[in-house]
Amino acid sequence: MGESLSEKVSEEIRRVDAGEELRVCAACGYERGFHVSFLRDGAEYRIVLICPNCGARYDVGWRGKV
Ligand SMILES: [Zn+2]
Repeated sequence: MGESLSEKVSEEIRRVDAGEELRVCAACGYERGFHVSFLRDGAEYRIVLICPNCGARYDVGWRGKV
């Protein structure tokens, strides 16, 4: 439908399993880790990782109360 792939990548939050180490961005291959942001979800915050290179966002299932 003519949607831009790069726009979509920056908007969606991918659900990932952190596993042993989560360091490499699956979208662009950037290897030096992630920025962190906090997204309010009711009484808690979802801890969202953001690739500093391409802006892809990842939800590793972490939740925090502030
Ligand atoms: Zn990336």
